[in-house]
Amino acid sequence: MRNLLVVLLTISNMHFVGGDPPTHRFDAYSDQERGYLQRVHGQPGDLSYTPDFPGGFQGWQRAARAKLKQLIGIDRIAAQVSGHRPAVHLEQESRVDGHLRQLGRIETEPGIHLPFWILRPIGSENKKLPVVICAHGHDEDGWNTYAGVFKDKQHQTTTENKQGNPGVQAVRRGYIAIVPATRGLAKSNSISDLNGRHGKRACRAQLMHCLLAGRTAIGERVWDTTCLLDWIASDLAGADATRIGMLGNSGGGVLTVYVAALDERIAVAHPSCSLTSYTDQSGYIFHCDCCMIPRIQTDLADMPDVAALTIPRTLVVVHGAKDGLHSQKVVNQAMQRLADIYLQCNVSDKFIFRWQPEGHRLYPAVFWPVMEDVF
Ligand SMILES: [Zn+2]
Repeated sequence: MRNLLVVLLTISNMHFVGGDPPTHRFDAYSDQERGYLQRVHGQPGDLSYTPDFPGGFQGWQRAARAKLKQLIGIDRIAAQVSGHRPAVHLEQESRVDGHLRQLGRIETEPGIHLPFWILRPIGSENKKLPVVICAHGHDEDGWNTYAGVFKDKQHQTTTENKQGNPGVQAVRRGYIAIVPATRGLAKSNSISDLNGRHGKRACRAQLMHCLLAGRTAIGERVWDTTCLLDWIASDLAGADATRIGMLGNSGGGVLTVYVAALDERIAVAHPSCSLTSYTDQSGYIFHCDCCMIPRIQTDLADMPDVAALTIPRTLVVVHGAKDGLHSQKVVNQAMQRLADIYLQCNVSDKFIFRWQPEGHRLYPAVFWPVMEDVF
């Protein structure tokens, strides 16, 4: 009875909303296509979570993490760059807009220099502060956007109108913000799409080079973030390595899911407008091609189960009701699956899901109170 009550409370807290708007059809395949896609996508993954997995939840987590690392190509990247020690170079810190801002670069593999911003509260020199990693999505200037480093007034206005500068929000709340460029999404760290062979999309060019060579674009982004986490934990002045959060909208949210799944140093994760099933029942694929992880659906599981690797840590998820990239019905099913696993692990209070009224964007009013609570 008590469990039933918890389930009902969990569901009522989720603010589930109705079906998809008629303008966004995710199931408009022909009957022939539907039959084929059902056969392709209709099987559960070999490592979908089940309570009777040998070794229980921890046994499943170990097996699923090992498989995830293998599928995203982390093991291959590690082997290819073995012996490389990621060096960090920091520029002079300057005082801007009520906080301190510093440009850094980390060489995550030979010749790959990832730029990132460090934003610090003024007057925090002798304190240990929580750190929030802010991962941007498909915006070639995204790391500047997230850190409030604007190229012109219009960039600033557009960003601030949709509260798209989480790095600045973090530092105003007294945290250290780390805002890295995302490989394949930021112009600073993209591989050229020569002759437009990959659809004139940098993220797809990255993906194709990776897939051909046993890596994935997601794997490279997770690798970069892991290198940053190592540096934050060992060398970032003033960082409290026991209080690290990560957030991101869209492609940055997808990255947040995988980093939190694999790295237990992330105490609280916030994927915004990104965490859903890989496909809906008709076979429609929701994420950008660059999020592709070959065989994940068959050899591991659907995305809510991957997100369950964050357990017992805190996961706060939002989706926008007007977001045309995602299906409300599928998001609700995915969130129900994730809520069920959190419940089975007796950590229901660590999973928060909210629908929000606007589109594909960040919703700071939801995630900051949760982060504050964890920190
Ligand atoms: Zn992409």
